[in-house]
Amino acid sequence: MPVDYHTHPLAHGEYAHSKEHLSLFFEQARKMGLKEIGLADHDRFREDFCFETIKEAARSFPDLQVKVGIEVDYIPGKIEKISQLVDEYPWDFVIGSVHFIDGWGFDNPDEIRGYEGKDPDELYSRYYDYLAEAIQSKLFDIIGHFDLIKIFNLRPKEDPVKLAQKALDAAFDAGVCVEINTAGRYKPVGEMYPEKRLLQACYERGVPITLSSDAHHPAHVGRDIDQAKALARRVGYHKAVRFSARQKDYLSFSA
Ligand SMILES: [Zn+2]
Ligand SMILES: [Zn+2]
Repeated sequence: MPVDYHTHPLAHGEYAHSKEHLSLFFEQARKMGLKEIGLADHDRFREDFCFETIKEAARSFPDLQVKVGIEVDYIPGKIEKISQLVDEYPWDFVIGSVHFIDGWGFDNPDEIRGYEGKDPDELYSRYYDYLAEAIQSKLFDIIGHFDLIKIFNLRPKEDPVKLAQKALDAAFDAGVCVEINTAGRYKPVGEMYPEKRLLQACYERGVPITLSSDAHHPAHVGRDIDQAKALARRVGYHKAVRFSARQKDYLSFSA
């Protein structure tokens, strides 16, 4: 059943949706034993999405299910614009992510100075307020990298589960899925998103999960998905979600 529901063929605008480049993503997916790959390029590169080429490239990989989604920045006050973006194409799934706090790209190494003088607990609270708002908007199927705010390993004094409580409860209420995103292992924090205790809290609340690499390069497709699955199993999950036309379907880990 292995799936990877968060990959970026366009990366940060360095690449195009060419048949050659997309094929590299699909080849790696096949090599990693994935049955399904979800493309989820950032909405800021929406003009560069080429659905026809994706379909054409996918035809050469009949053994691989290719799902087309998008990763959308949740920005408070831009709900209408986000809503239009979500409605303008028949996406298989939509990932909602908080990458900005009041215009500051807190996960961007070029903006790391923004952390100076900030209280970690306040920062975490603000991040989770925005995340809860994103979830409550009900515009998204999956919440991207749930605890991204830990990226540079700045840890709060307060219990992270407590700080995230509102967002965790909102995820259950909205029926939103949380992803186990393995890319965090290669960031300064050195662990997956979300951390085990938060994942446990998701499980206890009945929040469904999916698995993802957040690959911005073909070589990273499917990276550590087996470890993500093992972590999911350790906290009690037996299945992951996949999407078609924004409808959930559960896949058993044993299948
Ligand atoms: Zn992201
Ligand atoms: Zn991403």
